[in-house]
Amino acid sequence: MMERRIPSQRWCLFLDVDGTLLEMAATPDAVQVEANLQDLLNRLRTVLGGAVALISGRPIVSLDRLFGPHRWAAAGVHGLERRDSQGRWHSQNGFDVATVAQARDRLRQLADRLPGTILEDKGLSVALHFRQVPHLESQVRGEMRAILRALGSRLVLLEGRMVVELRLAGANKADAIREFLGEAPFKGRRPIFIGDDRTDEKALEEVQRVGGLSIAVGDRVRAMLRVSSPRDVRVFLEELADAGAPPL
Ligand SMILES: [Mg+2]
Repeated sequence: MMERRIPSQRWCLFLDVDGTLLEMAATPDAVQVEANLQDLLNRLRTVLGGAVALISGRPIVSLDRLFGPHRWAAAGVHGLERRDSQGRWHSQNGFDVATVAQARDRLRQLADRLPGTILEDKGLSVALHFRQVPHLESQVRGEMRAILRALGSRLVLLEGRMVVELRLAGANKADAIREFLGEAPFKGRRPIFIGDDRTDEKALEEVQRVGGLSIAVGDRVRAMLRVSSPRDVRVFLEELADAGAPPL
């Protein structure tokens, strides 16, 4: 007889998107979510009592375009925006729109000077992608640091994989997870977070700190478990959906 695993405790799940759930694409708009991934996420939501949230650098509107029609509990722009499982938005008040506009202008000029880089406007942040021109990496990073110095302390620089981003200072992915863990249906559950990039570092540390499970995709960040690709993440998630607990 097959042994049936009975979860000794209840879990909740936080997922980075690009590079974790989805393979990186040439541009942020080029990614797609296949039906079987949607099915898997819906199964997980059922098994975990609704306690599944997307924790992404994308704005929440972009997550909705990808993962709709369900409005997922989500943190967008690396934690600056948050929508809880009841659909309520939690954004910090008093965003400094003028500073973001200045950053947007500077990045637009930089993108014009460096053909092949792609400007992404996320509202509360602006990012410059250089996936198509990786040889420009050190120049892009250097120029972004110079822009940060020029524009002052209300912005932070996020250095990701093939992307550099200027974002308003404020809540990060770890803060968003902490807030979710204070609310139903996440409250009282043990968190799992899966991420792939340096921008996920604090969130990985946070779930570890509260007794959860941190999982890194690739070798850019440290975590308790490591898998090599979004394909492996899917395998892990399938097993989690079957058992209601991580396959450890
Ligand atoms: Mg990622």
